[in-house]
Amino acid sequence: MARRDVAPMGLTRFDLSPNDVPTSWYNILPDLPEPVPPPLDPKTGKPVDPNVLTRLFAKALVQQEISMEPYIQIPPEVRKALIEFGRRPTPLFRAVNLERYLNTPAEIYYKYEGVTPTGSHKINTALAQAYYNKSEGIERLVTETGAGQWGSALAAAGAYFSIKVRVYMTRSSYKQKPYRRTLMELFGAEVYPSPSDRTSVGRRFLKEDPEHPGSLGIAISEAIEDVLGDEKARYSLGSVLNHVLLHQTVVGLEARKQLEEAGVYPDIMIGAVGGGSNFAGFTYPFIRDRLKGSSNTRFIAVEPKASPSMTRGVYTYDYGDTAGLTPLIKMHTVGHEYKVPPIHAAGLRYHGIAPTLSILINHKIVEPIAYHQTEVFAAASLFTKLEGIVPAPESAHAVKAAIDLALKAKEEGKRVVIAFNLSGHGFLDLQGYREYLDGALEDYEPRDLPIYRSKPG
Ligand SMILES: *Cc1c(COP(=O)(O)O)cnc(C)c1O
Repeated sequence: MARRDVAPMGLTRFDLSPNDVPTSWYNILPDLPEPVPPPLDPKTGKPVDPNVLTRLFAKALVQQEISMEPYIQIPPEVRKALIEFGRRPTPLFRAVNLERYLNTPAEIYYKYEGVTPTGSHKINTALAQAYYNKSEGIERLVTETGAGQWGSALAAAGAYFSIKVRVYMTRSSYKQKPYRRTLMELFGAEVYPSPSDRTSVGRRFLKEDPEHPGSLGIAISEAIEDVLGDEKARYSLGSVLNHVLLHQTVVGLEARKQLEEAGVYPDIMIGAVGGGSNFAGFTYPFIRDRLKGSSNTRFIAVEPKASPSMTRGVYTYDYGDTAGLTPLIKMHTVGHEYKVPPIHAAGLRYHGIAPTLSILINHKIVEPIAYHQTEVFAAASLFTKLEGIVPAPESAHAVKAAIDLALKAKEEGKRVVIAFNLSGHGFLDLQGYREYLDGALEDYEPRDLPIYRSKPG
């Protein structure tokens, strides 16, 4: 295989100084081609009064959820936390060894969020959410976690801002990923397997099956019930909502500076999508350019075939959780009752996606694609050998797409610039890699999708 010249030292890593960490978040809401439909109250079918949402979320976060300001200032306390605790700015690398191996004319860059204390991008919103809740006098944050990435991030942020954290962790992960639970408890959080006997929702599912494996949707229902029973508690969500995606734009705003430093502008940007927060954080500052007509960049959103909300879902109002406690949200969904198969990319096992991302897909600005987990793990294991970083199984979806697009560029003889978000490392996901190496991974191709029985309104 012909080899490219080895890139000179220093051109494979693009670093920023802490001074370069953004001072504002980018809010895509005013730039979208159409407004985001409001969340609906399932009982009345009418838009939910934002003031009602303040029983669940800090007031500042509810304001951000509907803000039409294109840039929102990052409070200095949050920016300081992102730098001194969250380890921002994070590096951007050029995947020279992967380029050489693929023998592609494409240049491949990746932003690496695995250097944060809990190993993924999720700390970026966790710190902001802990800060706003603390400043509004809230004493405890309650949340759910699947793989444990979000629970760990919120637990860490709770430790930093001295606010209590309680996590409902899906029982299957609680058993399979004991290290994530340990990490959360190390940060001082309380962790319960979900379904639990602490809530009526949990007891209902436990009655069905005492060893119920749980799901993100059930854990969300439990967390919300918990919050509604305690005036001093608020709920915290790690993805999907506008304010969460907003907080993640530090990733893309940094990447923009780093790619400038590299002397390139991306032709293709890629991210994995669970609820859409790392994808949005990485791409929305660049999608802004495309919406303003100043770029033609392609944006590729990658999901698992086992949880195909973007590629096989419908765009409709659906519940955010399984038990139907949340307002109805207009999004691409496979149906809140869909039982997502137990793939290892647990962070991508969600039935819906962010409303803003749904609109961008409808307008063909974002192109969704889906892969099976075996091909994703194969790409990730190649990446590990060549680049030295073990991708989180979620992030590995973006790695797979980057490799495929680099091979396509080779076929077409095009010198495209590809940038993807490596949203986290996979050091606590080695069980999935074990099964991949043992040839024991299962691929799931669900039939009869979407499942959508309970029509709203
Ligand atoms: C949670 C998670 C995801 C998926 O969530 P998004 O909100 O879509 O970003 C992706 N990668 C990693 C490493 C995660 O922890």
